[in-house]
Amino acid sequence: MSTLRFSALKETLHRKPVFIEEKGRRSELFGKNVFNEQAIRQYMTRDAYQSVKDAIEFGSKIDRKVADQIAVSMKDWALSKGATHYTHWFQPLTGATAEKHDAFFDTIEGGGAMERFDGEQLVQQEPDASSFPHGGIRNTFEARGYTAWDPTSPAFIYGTTLCIPTVFVAYTGEALDNKAPLLRALQAVDTAATAVCKYFDKNVSKVNATLGWEQEYFLIDTALMSARPDLMMTGRTLLGHSPAKGQQLDDHYFGSIPDRVMSFMRDLEQECMLLGIPVKTRHNEVAPNQFELAPIFEEANLAVDHNSLLMDVMEKVSQRHQFKVLFHEKPFKGINGSGKHNNWSLATNTGINLLSPGKTPMKNLQFLTFFVNTIKAVHDYEELIRASIASASNDHRLGANEAPPAIISVFIGSQLSEVLDELENVTKGKLSPQEKTDLKLNIVGKIPEILLDNTDRNRTSPFAFTGNKFELRAVGSWSNCAGPMTVLNTIIAKQLKEFKIEVDDLIDTKKLKKDEAVFNVLREYIKASKKIRFEGDGYGEAWEKEALRRGLSNNKTTPQALKAKASKKAIALFTEMNVMNKVEVAARHEIELEEYAKRIQIESRVLGDIARNHVIPTAIQYQNTLIENVKGLKEIFGKGFEKYAKEQIDLIKIISIHIAEINSKIEKMTEERKKSNKLIGQENADSYCDKVKPFFAEIRYHCDKLELMVDDNLWPLTKYRELLFTK
Ligand code: ADP
Ligand code: MG
Repeated sequence: MSTLRFSALKETLHRKPVFIEEKGRRSELFGKNVFNEQAIRQYMTRDAYQSVKDAIEFGSKIDRKVADQIAVSMKDWALSKGATHYTHWFQPLTGATAEKHDAFFDTIEGGGAMERFDGEQLVQQEPDASSFPHGGIRNTFEARGYTAWDPTSPAFIYGTTLCIPTVFVAYTGEALDNKAPLLRALQAVDTAATAVCKYFDKNVSKVNATLGWEQEYFLIDTALMSARPDLMMTGRTLLGHSPAKGQQLDDHYFGSIPDRVMSFMRDLEQECMLLGIPVKTRHNEVAPNQFELAPIFEEANLAVDHNSLLMDVMEKVSQRHQFKVLFHEKPFKGINGSGKHNNWSLATNTGINLLSPGKTPMKNLQFLTFFVNTIKAVHDYEELIRASIASASNDHRLGANEAPPAIISVFIGSQLSEVLDELENVTKGKLSPQEKTDLKLNIVGKIPEILLDNTDRNRTSPFAFTGNKFELRAVGSWSNCAGPMTVLNTIIAKQLKEFKIEVDDLIDTKKLKKDEAVFNVLREYIKASKKIRFEGDGYGEAWEKEALRRGLSNNKTTPQALKAKASKKAIALFTEMNVMNKVEVAARHEIELEEYAKRIQIESRVLGDIARNHVIPTAIQYQNTLIENVKGLKEIFGKGFEKYAKEQIDLIKIISIHIAEINSKIEKMTEERKKSNKLIGQENADSYCDKVKPFFAEIRYHCDKLELMVDDNLWPLTKYRELLFTK
């Protein structure tokens, strides 16, 4: 009897929901532990407050003396909330968040102690942290990394620690984290979009990128996890036979949420409220034990921080409920994986969503400007977008017959497609100053009605327009949104910058009127970016063929996809837009290749261990029972025993065959691993991808066959049906 698996099952079946006390109304709890505008006003002097506001809005520098004042008020506020420690909270290139706590407590000369926290500690720290990946930016003799306060994301208290969001940069100024490039990209898109907005409204002085992510995840009981070393070590199951009932009936999607899960969600939501994460939606997802959580959208930098924080909080809260959260994109074979849709738009400081069609023709020209420029940017940099969402775990979704495909395309719906087609054909491609603007503005004027009943949705598209925002659906559930958001906002910035140059040129040299010039450039963009638009089924083979014909990239694996991240084109883009320099780009590329190889290496080792230490011994144990049985039959029946033992003898043989196959495949895989380990960079990642990874499915095949044969009482690993259906 396999004790761990069965005691885990028993434990799980007896669990009760953890009772969660409601701490108050959501609206009252919201932002209670955040040093937000309200708290800042209460605790800060007018000068300090103004200077923080300016820093947030215009990126202006904060004076040293003022920083001291801010630090003191932050400390007073934090102490009033029971905080004892503070930390610079940052996002190193591992994709997770990092913190190193220091106490406010300090001794005073001549005895005694006090709580101390001044501007110096607020603004900049040096958390040794030399073990984080840096891709060669920090060499050992100069291994200094600094964290620097990011005033655009408010400080918050988690537990008893004041967390101060920071960027993490090297002594030489290169970014060692995900946040610094993101902030630079957001700056770039602000500058470019604001300049374009001025064509339509002189009052616009700032444009914020907005982000609303939707986080999908699985919840698995901790006891059941404990009998799955693969889930524990890699976040996904490396073997396991599909259960008879999977998700065929679609009976989980939007179904009633189980009690234990509901109590986890309530607990989580309360924590989120206190931390100012505006969570709004929760529901069951398609797969059994899969759920989703989505907030109200926010300014992109804050939204990225909130997603990282949320993932951390989810892990902590789930422990209280004896759950483990799985963020892996594909924890179970044959069962839907998880993603993190990134809903993205641009909003002006005058309160206008630039991707929301307006009520007047002029407002719609503005909408069309941002709409068409976005499509053009994605067209020009589709391969870079694919690269920005590449990871070993996301490869199981992208390009593996699951939503969405590895081919990036844009879906806009049939009615907006008609609008663009109509606009495109107005002058048959000529830029003619004599054109009557009436006709064109008529088309533009039709948009709001059109959008009202624009209900068609295409769930297979990786980048879809959904009424007033674009939805990048290819982001993995495990990834940090900073990566794709940095790329998306950078390419939009670059595109808008170019657009402005072209429009200004038409106005200056061809003497076109402003709206006519805008219109003419847009028309050319519509033509030039046509091949990125796709309204059909993104999963089918037909689309792969069509995409190939159109010349769109289809990079199915991470090592292949990542190349676009370090290409000449990418480096030119990032340097021109001041988002990353060559060294920063190369460092990230190197880190991601290495991370890929390491993940596959770990999976390979874990799979080898489980197959050899769990699966094979269990199979042999069962085989021995069969052998005993056959021997017994022989004793009873003598010569003619075989008639009664045929099935058993066949099984004994088949088990031996599977065992032999598993053993030989593991040996070959280990050989390939050894060869791969001698390589570096691209070759190392390629080798893990092409030479090591293919063994996974082969080894799994034989293990899963054994799972079906071996006595259920002996099987040591929690089975799929138990992981997915035990409530
Ligand atoms: P669904 O896509 O499931 O139909 P919604 O349209 O309500 O749901 O929005 C999904 C997500 O999109 C939410 O997280 C929401 O906050 C976000 N969202 C809505 N408008 C914007 C916007 N202008 N910018 C960024 N995100 C947005
Ligand atoms: Mg959505």
